[in-house]
Amino acid sequence: MIYLDHAAGTAVDPEAVAAMLPYFYYDYGNPSSIHPLGRRAREAVERAREQVAQLINCQPNEVIFTSGGTEADNLAILGVAGANVSKGRHVITSQIEHHAVLEACRNLERNGFEVTYLEVDPFGIVAPENVRDAIRPDTILVSIMTANNVIGTIEPVAEIGAICQKLGVLFHTDAVQAVGHLPIDVERSDIDLMSLSAHKFYGPKGVGALYARGSVALSPIIFGGGQEEGLRSGTENVPAIVGMGAAAEIARYESAGEEFCLRKMSRDLIAGIMTSVPGSRLNGHPDKRLPGNVNVSIEGMEGEYLSGELAKRGICVSTGSACSSATHEAPYVLLATGLDRDLANCSIRLSLGKHTTDEDIKRAVQTLSEIVQKVRAESEVYSRW
Ligand SMILES: *Cc1c(COP(=O)(O)O)cnc(C)c1O
Repeated sequence: MIYLDHAAGTAVDPEAVAAMLPYFYYDYGNPSSIHPLGRRAREAVERAREQVAQLINCQPNEVIFTSGGTEADNLAILGVAGANVSKGRHVITSQIEHHAVLEACRNLERNGFEVTYLEVDPFGIVAPENVRDAIRPDTILVSIMTANNVIGTIEPVAEIGAICQKLGVLFHTDAVQAVGHLPIDVERSDIDLMSLSAHKFYGPKGVGALYARGSVALSPIIFGGGQEEGLRSGTENVPAIVGMGAAAEIARYESAGEEFCLRKMSRDLIAGIMTSVPGSRLNGHPDKRLPGNVNVSIEGMEGEYLSGELAKRGICVSTGSACSSATHEAPYVLLATGLDRDLANCSIRLSLGKHTTDEDIKRAVQTLSEIVQKVRAESEVYSRW
């Protein structure tokens, strides 16, 4: 099996698994309890908070653990909106955000807010000037992702952050695809809020975090016992949080080297597909892209069909994004870049990870080329009929 779907989820690092295990069976106390088992769970959660904070350069008390990237996005958008209604009811985002951001914004619209969905250029980049031009006196939040999950484009978040900072508007970024893969520094980029998800950087599923600068006013979206400073009630998922902390620490040491290897393999994969599959094109930006993301369109080859044929041969890739393949909707991210509907439907995403090898890349190129040749040879026969 060759796994080229790391943008949808990664294997949990064995060291992270080892760190988690004691918290299922030995140190299973509730972090809110004051007895020794509770205290040990609390210490583990606080250590993980420090590990996550170090990865992104913030204070530990600015990290709120959530159930994942989706909840972090919802808490950022609905939480800022809830705490700032008196200041205004306008939010700015882009057309290519993850569903977690887009649907949270649609929810705001149903509740009397106005949302501007900025266009992107053909590479999928949001122009900072467009953000500046869209800001109004009643704008309370700008939410632009750090890197896109479908096409891998890296957005100019530092420039956008500087504009927001200057104009006094809060800036949130969904950095789920970037954290643990690219150097991220919330201070340097003027980021007020940032979403993270552990399973995108070799941590477990079902845990993530929202970074919220100390001064940011947020309303909770989940109510109860007041955990996470009242911003995320519910007993902490201690093993998962510990796993996220461990994964963050591993990423801090390994991600730079990993980025270098992934960039090389991605270049080989792109070059391999472009030379051996006629009618193929790279989607997204040629170099401002995530190190492990390769998104290509191949003329006349439906993405759904291609990924199915690759799967039969043991190669796991995805079309558009994991979310859109479940609902079979048009790949909105590609359409937003101006790609026509046919080519947008003929796209697949191959996303590499730290266990990907040069051999995997060679086999993926070869298999893809064989499938395309076979289909084209057959359709040639049919067309002669
Ligand atoms: C995966 C992903 C999410 C959702 O994170 P979950 O932890 O799966 O809820 C949000 N945004 C982006 C960009 C993602 O890639």
